[in-house]
Amino acid sequence: MPIYEYACPECDIRFDKRRSMADADMPIACPSCGSLHPRRALSLFATVGGSSKSSTSSGGGSGCSGCSGGSCSSCGH
Ligand SMILES: [Zn+2]
Repeated sequence: MPIYEYACPECDIRFDKRRSMADADMPIACPSCGSLHPRRALSLFATVGGSSKSSTSSGGGSGCSGCSGGSCSSCGH
């Protein structure tokens, strides 16, 4: 089960919570002030999507077999 990081705007703290992916965006109570407004911050794990140019594909799910980090003409990655 992944660990998500939340940031509370009320008391300006961050805290980690282990939740299922289905509950990742559900409201969560701040352990400090009890507010239900903490927003999910970026987790320690890489965010899927967006521009991740630095990640060299080592058996990853994206790209084709011809991809070697650079631009690939066959799949666009
Ligand atoms: Zn708080």
